[in-house]
Amino acid sequence: MGEKSYVSMDTCIICGEAKGIVLDRRLRPRFERETITSVEPCEKCSEKYLTEGVMLVYIGDNDYDLLVIRDEAFERLFNREVPPGMFPTNRIVRCEKEVISELKSCWAEQSKEENL
Ligand SMILES: [Zn+2]
Repeated sequence: MGEKSYVSMDTCIICGEAKGIVLDRRLRPRFERETITSVEPCEKCSEKYLTEGVMLVYIGDNDYDLLVIRDEAFERLFNREVPPGMFPTNRIVRCEKEVISELKSCWAEQSKEENL
């Protein structure tokens, strides 16, 4: 376990690169070395993944999980259009952990079959 600090790197939820610095205004040592302060990925990842895809994300107390799927897949799976609104916020959809892990294992199965 690392020591906690009042300052931490705000990192991107997808690539883990630093987006900036977070600071506890009262200088309380409450952060790990790296912190994810928001589900919004960095600009590079938004550009790369979210211009044609939707990010499904689960945020728990101590863990998180995410999966980026293409617009077509999102529309097929959830039977609705990608929500309109501000980019990239409109392309970030919170969902249950189980949904993400199920989709992940589905896709793993599919790609296995394709490789046969
Ligand atoms: Zn990133």
